[in-house]
Amino acid sequence: MSSQPHTVLPWVVRRTRLPLLSLRCVACRSESATTAKGRFRVNANAKLLDVWLLVRCVSCDRTSKLTVHERAPVRSFDPAELDGYHANDPELVASRLLDPMFARRNRVTLDWKGAWRLDTPSAWLDEGWPVQVEVVFEAPVPVRPERLIAQGLGLSRNEVLRRIKCDIPLRRPTSAGFTYTVMAGC
Ligand SMILES: [Zn+2]
Repeated sequence: MSSQPHTVLPWVVRRTRLPLLSLRCVACRSESATTAKGRFRVNANAKLLDVWLLVRCVSCDRTSKLTVHERAPVRSFDPAELDGYHANDPELVASRLLDPMFARRNRVTLDWKGAWRLDTPSAWLDEGWPVQVEVVFEAPVPVRPERLIAQGLGLSRNEVLRRIKCDIPLRRPTSAGFTYTVMAGC
């Protein structure tokens, strides 16, 4: 019997909306903020630009400004990018919010709860084992492979540990693509 694994269509981790931000509100002490529809504020000072992304406390609606660019020379901007800031371009909002540098610079973390989904292709039961599955991330959602695989295959965590072969640690959160192999059940 061949032990060459079948390959099936990849699983895809997709964003369903923008994540919230874990950010303590100075007014009400809530720890959650939203970009809502996403608005930038641009301030020009001589030939330097400040760009902020505005976020609102989910409890009291207080607005905070998070830094996107600080005193950056106007000439260093791509004109299309600058237009995007002025127009509050939703794709630019998403790309700036999801940029790891943005979170680091503003000391916030992204709260992905309820903001993503896992798309899996239909079952492959008739193809036999083992099966190789590639997991692709369209959004940088940190997931524990163990939990994602259990959810996607409808297996218990113990079964995952017994039947899955994977080159990366199953328990450590990752948002980089990986491949795993499912071995036969018994
Ligand atoms: Zn608040």
